[in-house]
Amino acid sequence: MSVLNLEGITKHYEEADHPAVADLSLEVETGEIVGVVGESGSGKTTLLRLVAGFEIPDSGRITIGDELVTSENTYLPPDKRGVSMVFQEHALFPHLTVAENVGFGLHKLSRKAAATQIDEMLDLVKLQTYAKRYPHELSGGQRQRVALARALAPQPSVLLLDEPFSSLDERLKLDMRDEVREIIHRLGTTTLWVTHEMEYALALSDRMAILRDGALQQIEKPDFIYTHPANEYVANLFGHTNILHGTVKSHGIKTCAGLVHAEGNFKEGDDLTLSIRPEFLEITEDQRGIACNIVRISYCGRYQELILQMEDSCSPPCQITLHAEPGRRFSEFQKIRVRFPEDKVHVIKR
Ligand code: ADP
Ligand code: MG
Repeated sequence: MSVLNLEGITKHYEEADHPAVADLSLEVETGEIVGVVGESGSGKTTLLRLVAGFEIPDSGRITIGDELVTSENTYLPPDKRGVSMVFQEHALFPHLTVAENVGFGLHKLSRKAAATQIDEMLDLVKLQTYAKRYPHELSGGQRQRVALARALAPQPSVLLLDEPFSSLDERLKLDMRDEVREIIHRLGTTTLWVTHEMEYALALSDRMAILRDGALQQIEKPDFIYTHPANEYVANLFGHTNILHGTVKSHGIKTCAGLVHAEGNFKEGDDLTLSIRPEFLEITEDQRGIACNIVRISYCGRYQELILQMEDSCSPPCQITLHAEPGRRFSEFQKIRVRFPEDKVHVIKR
């Protein structure tokens, strides 16, 4: 069942030359974490602000639970939506203690019920012993935990996280990601979690929504997006991929890098754009492999990056990137053969 439903949402700020969010439709299931990803300026924050009710769209409808909260003639204010948002910069009240910050949205509860809820939330974010401290007595990571506890305390039906940990250092950021993901799943809170870091998003998301210039490019499970990007833009977001253009022949797809095979329904004469990730290319002894020369080797720790130039190629010669295991020895100008595993060659455009 979907908890959050956006239908054809468009938001064009005055003076802007293109919409911040463009005809965006999105459905989020109960308890699901959707990672919202896109470059800076792609509309991520605007999307969250529209859901929260801090912005009003030019057109489109938003439903939360079974309540219509935004439409042409409906506007429910933020405090009536059952939505909580955590911002990039921690926005705690400096003059309130940790416990008072967490209890801020609980005025509807009795004092006793509020106190219990505050305790539970502090327990959840492992700050039980910090209840009486003030924000300036906490580290950056602890402050973001308080912000999260405060957002979760009123038991929102939708939680919105706008790069909540981007100001923390790398190690802490990863720890927080895994911990917060677990907390959200345990509570079953439906969440939109914005980040601009792809690897981060891959790990935290049940599904990922990719934005570009305010338009939704793809929404799918992380592994599916990684292996089946909807277009060249999405493919390139995850680091390098080999993009090949080819034409379907009776015996395979003829590309600049040689004859390759891919799964899918297409017919002779079709022009295709293919993507294959460097780690999926295989080095083979089989004479049917495509002959190429190593033109550059870069050691990258977990893998070696080989730039290969096809022996039998178009002009200018086609180069592709392959990631090989780090222990293996190669030399520049060495001749090798490569294989494009059929199930790893993904057709992104036909
Ligand atoms: P992101 O969070 O992905 O970086 P934003 O939603 O902040 O993107 O911004 C999307 C686009 O809308 C950008 O082009 C930005 O300059 C513009 N924008 C954001 N907020 C405003 C505003 N209040 N007024 C005018 N333009 C804005
Ligand atoms: Mg933003």
